[in-house]
Amino acid sequence: MRYYVLDRGDQLSIELSERFHKLAAKYGFELDAESPEIVVSIGGDGTMLHAFHTFIDHIPDLAFVGIHTGHLGFYADWKADELEELVKFMAGESSDSMEHHPKIVKYPLVDLEINTKSGTSHYTALNEFTLKGVDGTTVVAQVDINDEIFEMFRGDGICISTPSGSTAYNKALGGAMVHPTIEALQIAEIASINNRVYRTLGSSMMLPKHHHCDIHSRKPQRLQLTIDHLNLSIDDLISIRCQVSKVRVSFARYRPYPFWNRVRQSFLG
Ligand code: NAP
Repeated sequence: MRYYVLDRGDQLSIELSERFHKLAAKYGFELDAESPEIVVSIGGDGTMLHAFHTFIDHIPDLAFVGIHTGHLGFYADWKADELEELVKFMAGESSDSMEHHPKIVKYPLVDLEINTKSGTSHYTALNEFTLKGVDGTTVVAQVDINDEIFEMFRGDGICISTPSGSTAYNKALGGAMVHPTIEALQIAEIASINNRVYRTLGSSMMLPKHHHCDIHSRKPQRLQLTIDHLNLSIDDLISIRCQVSKVRVSFARYRPYPFWNRVRQSFLG
C-alpha cells in the first residue's frame, strides 16, 4: 500500500506520525508523497482540511483516514490510542470482516468559480466557502439561483457549505446538519440586515447537485473569501459561481462510522 502522513505539527501528532511510519515499515507499506493511495491525517478535523488541499489535484485517486489527537472528530474518526489497531486494519491483520476491503465512503464537495476583473480562478471546498467584508464592512451582493435573481444580500456575509462541512461553520450560523452523503450544498446567511428596506430569505437553504448559485458583487468592496482554512482578500470581485462538484472525496472506513452518533457525541455529549 502506498501511503502518506500529514500531521498537525504539535508534539503528540508528530510522535504519532513517527509511530505510524515505523508500523507501516513493519507491514511493508510504501511511503509515497506523489501518488499515495491512502493519506493519513493526524491531528484534528482542521488537519484533514490541510491534507485535502495538499492533495487537491489527486482527490479522485486516493482515500483519506483521520486520527484525532483530542476528542473524536468528524473526518478524524480514530483516536490516538487506536493507532496500532488502525494499522492492523490497513494491513489486513485484524479479525474484523471489513479488514481487507475498507468501505470507501464518498462525500460531495463544493466547486467555486471566482470571477474578478483580473481573471477567473477555481477552488474546491471540503467544508465550506465564506464571503465576508473586510474590517466588518457590510457586504452587498446579489444572489442568483439557476440564473434568476433570488435576493439582494446585505450583511456580514454568506457561507456555502458542503454536507460534511455542515457540522462546522455552517452549524454556528444555524444551518442544518446534513448527512454527508447527500449531494447538495447549503447556503447560510451571516448576520443579514433585514428591515423594511432590505430583505433576504433569513433561513438557510439547500441546493441539489444540478442547481447552481451565483453571488454578484454589487458595490466596490474589499472582500475576504475563505475556502476551508484558506484566505483570499480581493477588491475586484465580479461574481462567484457555486455548485456541487462532479468530484467527490473518498474516506476509507475500516469500521462503521455512524454519523448521527458522532453528531450526538460531539454536540449533545
Ligand atoms: P480553527 O479555527 O483552528 O478550528 C475550527 C474548529 O472547527 C476546530 O475545532 C475543528 O475541529 C472544527 N472543524 C473543522 N472541520 C469540521 C467539521 N467538518 N465538522 C465539525 N467541526 C469541524 O480553524 P481550522 O482548523 O483552520 O479550520 C477551518 C474551519 O474552521 C473552517 O472550515 C470552518 O468550518 C471552521 N470555522 C468555524 C467557525 C465557527 O464555528 N464560528 C468560524 C470560523 C471557522 P478540530 O479541533 O478537530 O480540528
